Amino acid sequence: MKKILVNEVGPRDGLQNIENILNVEERFDLIKSLEKAGINSLEIGSFVNPKSVPAMANTDVLLDKLSTTKSHYSVLIPNTVGYKAAKENRVKEICLVLCATESMNMENINKSIKDTIVEFKEIIKMTKQDNIRSKIYLSVAFECPYEGIVNPDYIHELTKDFLCNGVNEVVIADTIGAGKPEQVKKLFNTLVNDFGSSKFSAHFHDTESLAISNVKAAMEEGISKFDSCIAGLGGCPFAPGASGNLATEDLVSMLHKEGVETGIDEEMLRKSAKLAAKLTS
Ligand code: MG
Repeated sequence: MKKILVNEVGPRDGLQNIENILNVEERFDLIKSLEKAGINSLEIGSFVNPKSVPAMANTDVLLDKLSTTKSHYSVLIPNTVGYKAAKENRVKEICLVLCATESMNMENINKSIKDTIVEFKEIIKMTKQDNIRSKIYLSVAFECPYEGIVNPDYIHELTKDFLCNGVNEVVIADTIGAGKPEQVKKLFNTLVNDFGSSKFSAHFHDTESLAISNVKAAMEEGISKFDSCIAGLGGCPFAPGASGNLATEDLVSMLHKEGVETGIDEEMLRKSAKLAAKLTS
């Protein structure tokens, strides 16, 4: 594989769960620093209830400040209310998160999987009319902290359902970092065979130091887009044991060593990692 797209999720996934809440100016500076390093695909915030996730308040103000740049920004939304806010703020891509087990979905958004799917399909329908790109995160795609191993057939079924309903991208998310390379390879093998590699990306956590091995396993099956998080920040506020996301600097370093292009400058990226550490400490 010659080129991999790195989707930076630090400004959302990394910052949503830290004690030290950044102001809009600091979030903006972090994004600008990442862009300077060559990253041009970023999840920059979310339209969620600021009482549940105070770190993501004022994402509208942040978007306004970012309106003149050329990068590709996505924003996470949990429901129709969030979708309306995203649309009002001229968001070009929305991220939806469905947890693949009832317990985890309840914990995350306090809703059954069935009800979530109904609402998400309505949202995806609206994105078509509004010319907004959509992606669905299938969270705890390998293992759930409450229900254990997730059946890969169920992930396949959810993928098919969402793709048939017009979602643009399916992100296979190992939210607690429990997936093993052989599981990753097997799942993507089936998904890519049935739906093509361009519909997918992957989101790994480094809980068991397997994130890089899991990226390599997914690459072997043709996946060319990965989420990562500057300085490996974050976890998941509602998933016990979910430690840091795959660090962007680790991902980029591995890819460059393997001769894969990313368009990202490692030296500049190290500066971004330092800034991220400083802002969050
Ligand atoms: Mg994550």
